[in-house]
Order: sequence, then structure tokens, then C-alpha cells
Amino acid sequence: MSFDVALTRSQFPVLNQRVGKKRLAYLDNAATTHKPQAVMSAVDRYYGEYNSNIHRAVHTLSQKATEAYESSRQRVAEFLGADRPDEIVFTAGTTAGINLVANSWADQHIQPGDEILISHLEHHSNIVPWQLLCERRGCTLKVIPVLEDGQLDLSAYEQLLSERTRLVALSHVSNTLGVITPLDVMIPKAKEWGATVLIDGAQAVAHLPVNVTELGCDFYVFSGHKLYGPTGIGVLWGRGEVLHGMPPWQGGGDMIETVSFAGSTWAEPPARFEAGTPNIVGAIGLAAAIDYFDALDHAAVTAHEDALLRQATEALLNIPGLRILGTAEPKLSVISFTLEGVHPHDIGMILNKEGVAIRTGHHCTQPLMERFGLDATARASFALYNDQEDVSALLHGLETVRRLFA
Ligand code: PMP
Repeated sequence: MSFDVALTRSQFPVLNQRVGKKRLAYLDNAATTHKPQAVMSAVDRYYGEYNSNIHRAVHTLSQKATEAYESSRQRVAEFLGADRPDEIVFTAGTTAGINLVANSWADQHIQPGDEILISHLEHHSNIVPWQLLCERRGCTLKVIPVLEDGQLDLSAYEQLLSERTRLVALSHVSNTLGVITPLDVMIPKAKEWGATVLIDGAQAVAHLPVNVTELGCDFYVFSGHKLYGPTGIGVLWGRGEVLHGMPPWQGGGDMIETVSFAGSTWAEPPARFEAGTPNIVGAIGLAAAIDYFDALDHAAVTAHEDALLRQATEALLNIPGLRILGTAEPKLSVISFTLEGVHPHDIGMILNKEGVAIRTGHHCTQPLMERFGLDATARASFALYNDQEDVSALLHGLETVRRLFA
């Protein structure tokens, strides 16, 4: 099997359009990816053929919907290499998964004086829930520094770890830099101190094989919309025994075993953490996205994305005044850059006129921006459907930027 990018592009209807008069070059994949026809068809089939609420009805449509929802859970478990489907909690996304852990597991386990260890390159969604926890529980947030090339400072990490470290929460891949966190080194070190480990896989799942059992973490979270699936659906994987010990965070239908005014009892996980009608169609769409993605030749996809990244990086580095943030290896799919004398926002606006969609701003990583003395960068990020023409459009657009600002 090899990777056919033209065929792949034809499976993503949204790519076949012009922005103004220009061919769309979509390079904002770290923010969200487009959806293949297979995902849209699965969503359509749910609404057109068996739309129904799940779990509590005996009628045929509800049974079909329940079966589809629960087999989506099974599909996600296989995808992540989880031991059991009941370790998969459907959430609204990465942010919701982290907040669930912060409000359930952490609220139960964290005492005043305990330390939560994160890194300087985390997305706000892996910073703010821990700050809120520290306010509630009197714990302290510690931060692993980032080196000049975007890699985490591993010797500082070792110094920061101690018997006070209760939780280490790290992104698998930086959304701003594309640099891959050396989890194979960092997770075992955290475990030596008995810390619980949460990994934010938002930027990893669409690019790296993820096996939670091999990683050795306790929680892994990601969002469906960055994996060619729908928005509003995400996954929290929790190690079975850890999830079982956790109290509910949100109360409501479906998360209980019994309810009475004398007191209520909780359902087993994952239902305990899925109060209310869940995003049924989102889970079904996510499973369709995983089916689509997993049927591809992953080595060929990685080689393709890597070739685009290398080619674009080399060409960008030839542009006078252009600086790339995050040069450490291994890295993937993201190029964050600044161009001397031009605000990233202006770069984004001019590129948009050329049909090139990139993201500009702080990328929800303000502490990291501050670390590099910046308030914003321009960020081009790649997915499997990007091609040479997209890279050429980016380079051509940047020539226009330079001409206009010369
Ligand atoms: N973590 C990382 C590394 C991300 O890239 C993102 C999305 N930009 C998030 C967390 C938050 O994801 P969501 O908005 O889908 O909850």
C-alpha cells in the first residue's frame, strides 16, 4: 500500500474550493482538520436512519443508536491500545477531558502542599484547569522550562520531580512548535516518584501511533476534530483502576445507579462520567474518522507529511528575516514562524488573499510566547491531504508579504 495524496484530497469535499480566485491551501490543521466524506456519511446515516437517544429504550432505533455509540467506544479503545472499552470516556474534547480529571481525580487526591508539574509549552487547556485546582486545593503549579530550540529541559524536569509531585501533565506534541515530547523518558521518571501522569494528545493522534498501554501514563486525552472527526466529541482514556476510584464530576441522567432523596449511587465508569445525553452522533463520527484514518498506510502518511514539513522548512529558512520557533527534533506537522518587520496578523491576512489558510496569534500558549519574547507567530500546520501545491502557495504568498513590506 502507498499513499495517494490526489485520491485522499478527493475524499475531503471542502478542499475542492476557491477562496476568492485562489485554490484553497488549508494549512491550519493544528486548529482543526477537515472531514472525509466517510465521516459526513456516517453522521448523515445516523440522523437519516436511526437518530434516537441511547441506553434507556427498548425500541429498535434506540437499540441501533446504543449499539453504534458503544461500538464507537470499542473502536476508540482499539485505536488507543486500551485494555478495555470501559476505560474510554466520551467528552466534548481535550479541554473537557482535562477539566474532568482536574475536578474529579485531582479534587479527590490533591492536598495542600502537593505539586502539579506541567511544562512551559502547554496549551492553556493544560494550564488553567490546574491553576483553578491550585486555588481550590492549595497545591502548587510547577513548570518545566523550555530550551531555546523548543525541547523541554529534561535535567530541570528531574530536579523538579519530588515526593511532592502528585501529577505530571504534558502535551504529547506542542501545538505551537510541533516538537514531540520525549514521553518514553519522561513518563518513567514521573512514575519513579509515584506521580500520576496525564498526556494531552490533541496534536499527536493524527500523526503518531499512540498506545496508552505502552506509554505507561494514567490519562490520555484528545479531540475528535483534530483527527478528521466531528467537533464537540473527544476522549478521556483513564487506566481502569484509576477511573474506578474516581468520584463523578457532573451529575445527571445516565451516570447513576440509583437515585433517592436519601442519597444516590453512581454507575460504573465510563457511564459515571457521561452525565446527560452524550454527543451520540459525535462518537459515531469519530469512530468513522478512526476507521478512515486507520485504513491508511501510516508509514506512507508519515513519510508524506514529513516530506512536506522538511520541504517547507528548508524553503522558509531561505527567506531573509524569517525565524522558525521550535527546531528541536523530533518534530512534526507544525511550522511556527515570524518575519522581521511584519506582524503575524498581517502575514495571515495577506496569505488569506492568496487562498492560504494559516493561523496567527498566541495559539493558546501565551506563557510560551512570553518565553520567546513574542506576542504572536504565524503557524502553518500540515495534514495528510496537504500537497506540494499547498507548500508552493505558502511560499508564493510569503513572497507577496515581503514585496508589500519591503
Ligand atoms: N491541547 C493542545 C495541545 C491543543 O492543540 C488543543 C487545541 N488547539 C487543545 C489542547 C484544546 O483542544 P480542544 O479545543 O479541542 O478542547
